[in-house]
Amino acid sequence: MIQSKPATASTEDVVAELRRRSTFVFVSHVKPDGDTLGAGLALGLALRGMGKRVHHFQQDPVPRNLRFLPDSERVARELPADLPADALWVFCDMSSTSRAGEFLPELERRNILDIDHHLGNEHFGALNYVLSDECSTGTCVLRLLRAMKTPITPEIATCLLTTIMTDTGGFMHSNTTADVLRISAELTDLGANKEEITERIFANKRFAAIRLLGHALGTARLENDGKYCWSVVDDAMLAQFDADGEDTEEIVQHLRAVEGVDVAALFKAYDGDVRVSLRSNGRVNVQAAAGRLGGGGHFRASGLTFVGSLDDAIVAVRDALVAEGL
Ligand code: AMP
Ligand code: MN
Ligand code: MN
Repeated sequence: MIQSKPATASTEDVVAELRRRSTFVFVSHVKPDGDTLGAGLALGLALRGMGKRVHHFQQDPVPRNLRFLPDSERVARELPADLPADALWVFCDMSSTSRAGEFLPELERRNILDIDHHLGNEHFGALNYVLSDECSTGTCVLRLLRAMKTPITPEIATCLLTTIMTDTGGFMHSNTTADVLRISAELTDLGANKEEITERIFANKRFAAIRLLGHALGTARLENDGKYCWSVVDDAMLAQFDADGEDTEEIVQHLRAVEGVDVAALFKAYDGDVRVSLRSNGRVNVQAAAGRLGGGGHFRASGLTFVGSLDDAIVAVRDALVAEGL
C-alpha cells in the first residue's frame, strides 16, 4: 500500500513548536556543506538568543573551509549525557535521517523537526518544513526567523548568506532567483560578510586541491556524443597529491561547464566507498537518476553512494542517466 507523506507544516506550527521546546539538537548531514551547517547554526544562534539550550550534532568534522562560521566550534559528534527526553532534534538539509550517518540514537518521530528543500524529502519528522522551491535550507530557516520576529544578528546573517552562496554556487545556479538576490542583499545589510564567505568557500584552496583538480580534469572522459563528462578520484590519487575528500569539492562543476555537456559525474572511490556526484545543465533530471541507485538531491545536483565496485558504478550510473534521457 502506498502511504501518503505527512503534509508540509505551516510556518506558524513550526514556530509554535520552536517556542514550546527548550532544548534543541541540530543535526547536519554527512560530508557537511555550507547549507546543512549554516542553516542549523543560524537557527541555533537565534534560539540561544531566546535563552534556549542548543547542541549541534554532526558525524563528520566541520570542513576546513566552513570553520569560519559562527558557533561552528560547538559542532560535535558527541552528545551530552543529560539531554532531556523532550529535546527537539532538528534535521537540516537532508531527505532522510540516514543522511545523518550512523551515530545517532533511536529517535521518536514526535521529537523530530525536518527542515529541508530537497525534492525527495521523506517527511520523516513530526513536523516537516520542506519547501522545495527554496534555494537553500537556510532560506527556509530565514522564513522561520522572520515569523518569530527574532533579531537577525550579523552572525546569523553570515550563516544564512553562506547557505545561499553554497547552494547557488555563488549565485551561479538556476535557483538564483530575484528573490534570492534580494534576500542576499538584505542579509548583507544585516552584516553578513559576503567578501569573507566568497574567499573562504570559493577561493582559499589548498595547493593539493588544485593539483588534484588538474589530474581529475586531465583524465576526464567525454562520452555519449559529448553530452556526458565524467572523471574519477580514488585513494591512490588522494595519496599522490596529499589531498583528502574536502579537496574534491569543485571538480564536478568544471566537468559540467564543458561546452555541450548535459551531465557531469565525479566518481569518488576512496575511504571504502564509491560515492558519485552528479550535475546537470537542466535537461536531464539527475535527482531521478540518483534515485534509481538509492541516492537523491535536486534536479540539477544530486549524489549517491554506490553499493559495489567502481567499475560497476560507472556502468550503473551511465545506465541510470540514459534511462533519464541522457
Ligand atoms: P554532492 O555531489 O555530494 O555535493 O551532493 C549534491 C546533492 O546531492 C546534495 O543536494 C546532496 O544532498 C545530495 N546527495 C549527495 N549524496 C547523496 C546520497 N547518498 N543520498 C541522497 N542525496 C545525496
Ligand atoms: Mn547539503
Ligand atoms: Mn541544501
